[in-house]
Amino acid sequence: RAKQQGRNRYCFFSEDLEAELMRRHDIEMLLRHAIDQDGFEVFFQPQFALRNMALIGAEALVRLRDKDGNFISPADFIPLAEETGLINQLGRQVLRKSCLAAKGWQRYGKELRVAVNIAAKQFSNPAFIDEVAAALEESELRSHLLELEVTESALMLDFDQAQSTLVKLSALGLSIAIDDFGTGYSSLSYLKLFPVDVLKIDQSFVRDMLDDGQSLDIVRTIVHLAKSLNLTLVGEGVEREPQKQTLLELGCDLGQGFLFARPLPADEFERLLVG
Ligand code: C2E
Ligand code: MG
Ligand code: MG
Ligand code: MG
Repeated sequence: RAKQQGRNRYCFFSEDLEAELMRRHDIEMLLRHAIDQDGFEVFFQPQFALRNMALIGAEALVRLRDKDGNFISPADFIPLAEETGLINQLGRQVLRKSCLAAKGWQRYGKELRVAVNIAAKQFSNPAFIDEVAAALEESELRSHLLELEVTESALMLDFDQAQSTLVKLSALGLSIAIDDFGTGYSSLSYLKLFPVDVLKIDQSFVRDMLDDGQSLDIVRTIVHLAKSLNLTLVGEGVEREPQKQTLLELGCDLGQGFLFARPLPADEFERLLVG
């Protein structure tokens, strides 16, 4: 009986595994197709100065649709893109589209910044710096309007390489943001050693800070840290007015979240600029 049970269990496991492999295979095919056919979209989520609600820029967020036109979450396909190495091609195209879009916004007389997410594997690719330079050159976007978002874990894979990459990138004149700040690395000394410009407080702290004193303390600490290191601070995942108020009172510079705007298709984002 034990043997029988064991075999059953193996069967269940194997069916789950098979379904998971099929799902991954489907997403991988969609990714390859999208890369070849320019089939993914880049959405833009507005970022505002909390002080006066001036629009200051947007975060670029990639979107992929399945065969039925439904969106697949980046949380599902970005890790797979990293595993398969497709992230390098995908990321290059996102960077290119984002720079071209931000250049286009200038038609409306707006000098808006675009923030582009960079996966760990992209960041450690030796060709990455040249790709960034090429995207800036092609788009003719001034480099101070480009921000690259990296996570602490991407920076900590290889500390020395990360430092030299960041120094070269910031020599191009663009800015570096640490995404999901507060969830990753436990030591903060890298903030002194690396040319970092922006911290994005992780959404989980913003979500919990009004119900949970510890999250509020963490946000307060991050605000002080950013001020003393002269870094710009972005509060992410702002969904409710009291969260906005609290961030503003604590001294957080910028806000991004569903309270203000969802990530928008490029044309909808441009409609914000007309007014
Ligand atoms: P992220 O960089 O931290 O991006 C913020 C995510 O939070 C986005 O999810 C955005 O839609 C969502 N968000 C914005 N405001 C709110 C809010 O008020 N409440 C809640 N609950 N969520 C909010 P999205 O677009 O699904 O992206 C998820 C993650 O996928 C991103 O997290 C980023 O790590 C990754 N990602 C997205 N686009 C790219 C890309 O082009 N390249 C790379 N390498 N990663 C990307
Ligand atoms: Mg981000
Ligand atoms: Mg984030
Ligand atoms: Mg600075």
